[in-house]
Amino acid sequence: GPRPPTTTTRTTCGYCGVGCTLEVLTRGEETVAVLPARDGPVNRGHACVKSRFAHAFRTSPERLTRPLLRRDGRLEPVGWDEALDHAARGLRAAVAAGGPEAVAAISSARATNEENYLIQKFMRTVIGTNSVDNCSRLCHSPSAAGLSAAFGLSGGTDSFDDVERADCLLVAGANPVEAHPVIGARLLQRVLRGARLVVADPRAVGLAGHADVHLRPRPGTNVALFHGLARVLLTEGLTDEEFLRERVTGLPELAELLEDYPPKRVEAITGVPAVDLVAAARLYGRAKQPAIVYGLGVTEHLHGTDGVRALANLAILRGAVGTGRGYGVNPLRGQNNVQGASDMGALPDLLPGYQKVTDPATRERAARVWGCEAAEIPARPGLRIPDMFAAARAGDLRALWIIGEDVCATDPDATRVAQALEACPLVICHELFLSETARRADVVLPAASWLEKDGTFVNFDRRFQRVRPALAPPGQARSDFAIVHALAAALGADLGCATPAAALAECARLAPLFAGVSHERLDREGALCWPVPDPDGPGEARLYTERFATADGRAHLAACPYLPPGEEPDEDYPLVLVTGRRWAHYNSGNMTRRTGNLRLEAVDRLDLHPADAARYGLRDGDPVTVESRHGRARLTVRICGETAPGQVFCAFHFPASGVNTLTSGHADTVTSCPEYKVTAVRLLCD
Ligand code: SF4
Repeated sequence: GPRPPTTTTRTTCGYCGVGCTLEVLTRGEETVAVLPARDGPVNRGHACVKSRFAHAFRTSPERLTRPLLRRDGRLEPVGWDEALDHAARGLRAAVAAGGPEAVAAISSARATNEENYLIQKFMRTVIGTNSVDNCSRLCHSPSAAGLSAAFGLSGGTDSFDDVERADCLLVAGANPVEAHPVIGARLLQRVLRGARLVVADPRAVGLAGHADVHLRPRPGTNVALFHGLARVLLTEGLTDEEFLRERVTGLPELAELLEDYPPKRVEAITGVPAVDLVAAARLYGRAKQPAIVYGLGVTEHLHGTDGVRALANLAILRGAVGTGRGYGVNPLRGQNNVQGASDMGALPDLLPGYQKVTDPATRERAARVWGCEAAEIPARPGLRIPDMFAAARAGDLRALWIIGEDVCATDPDATRVAQALEACPLVICHELFLSETARRADVVLPAASWLEKDGTFVNFDRRFQRVRPALAPPGQARSDFAIVHALAAALGADLGCATPAAALAECARLAPLFAGVSHERLDREGALCWPVPDPDGPGEARLYTERFATADGRAHLAACPYLPPGEEPDEDYPLVLVTGRRWAHYNSGNMTRRTGNLRLEAVDRLDLHPADAARYGLRDGDPVTVESRHGRARLTVRICGETAPGQVFCAFHFPASGVNTLTSGHADTVTSCPEYKVTAVRLLCD
């Protein structure tokens, strides 16, 4: 029979941004079970199939356990000293040839806060560039831009406990039942206990079957849809007049813009029947305490930031932010620490705590904490991820350091990403496996997984939670924290903050938003939602109760017109492809494909409406080639009613299928977030 565990380690799930608290039961170096903690502040005894069962990747024979170095075109195992020495010499050569701007780093939303903090400090103080970014660029950068412009801070406005108090939920562009299962279950429970539900999503996602109204806009038309809802709120007097008068700017400009969005015109743009639009607006507008939850279906668009602003308009018009008369606008984060990676300043324009790098006072403060001269911290914002690839293809980027992101599988227009890596003289990669990206790198450094690390993550509702190592990394693998320190040492630099606890303490001295956070406090008190300005004071689960964090203290309505997506279907490419995640796997699948979850979903499938399947003569399980203007992918047909006619959907969990060779280089005009949600494609049947 199974041998009983000897140790229980309390930690935070390393898959999605819900931030479930887990108990990892081990015996020696064997994982006996992973259980949800009953007193987890978000999950309360629940967890999904990923955390419970997708941990066998740890001991996969494919796990990287030694550094690899490219010699004569082949990756060969070497010792740590040789790998680090090669990386350090390459970085020095890149700076000598092109200056600090010839080096860039893609930090990781999988890594801890402390690792992200250390990586951005390395780039700014050791290399001398702000070219450090993280994969929030590819998912929720429009949330950061949109929410901070509307309210002042780059996070959701309320905790999930508040959202759960809402009597009407508007879930837009998100499929939490599959992508954030614990939140999906909590939302569903709330609906079953009486909350009204509006779902805005082109697909019939899991919650849609329980919705009072399901709005199915054509992909890429969110801004028109949200303006249509806003117009109904205005014309039917479903706004909070006192709140708008006392705490808001921008109403006259928005009211004028909304003249152009009567329900019938919105129906013509979005395909959503005017009667449904009005019904949804009345549900949201008449609720006592409505809340908005949204996902990447809002952000991953050519006008994703406008989508976030237009969605925030609804909560502002309704007085549902910072008042207790509703629970704001709340993004569901994808990766476990995508909020934290940005919080820690792994961004090309912001230092930890969202402090502008262009601000001399911010650089002075950072210099005092880091023990350097303010003039040594570069003032010019660095490159965003898509600009890094463009610079590499142009020959301007000479070294690219990628920490735990499989960019060749998950970034859009993947053929051109691979070309960028081939053009870059030095690619350093930290990884668990020989991913699509690692196999193209020059130096591959074996990294620890989330089950083997010490630090903290920040989940989707701004909650700092502890991450504790349940097991040791295999072979010679090291944490990203240790690797960054070792690479700094190879360059003759000392980054200070020798432990993760010391790194978070240093970040707390630098960033007023996190001034009261420490490992010691989290160990003693449990989770803390930022802002935590005071070491003895509480965090703020609900924001803006006194004033908004904008310069004038008011919430800002946005009068942004609807503009079409980058691609629309035509005769050559008649279908619209939307990409997203399935319940059993996680993103590029590097971890979940190496576990029993592979038995649950073994291929990337193309969801096709029965009418389209009949038109193409395709049956369930048939192989099909999907072609866009950018590339080709090979998928297996799944005939279902979840996608609307004329639309197809697939995930990107199996790199061999090549889904991200299809997606385009179109990106949010404000933040460069890719338009994963709208690609015109055609099907080539065998
Ligand atoms: Fe982990 Fe997300 Fe599943 Fe919770 S819902 S167990 S955080 S993958």
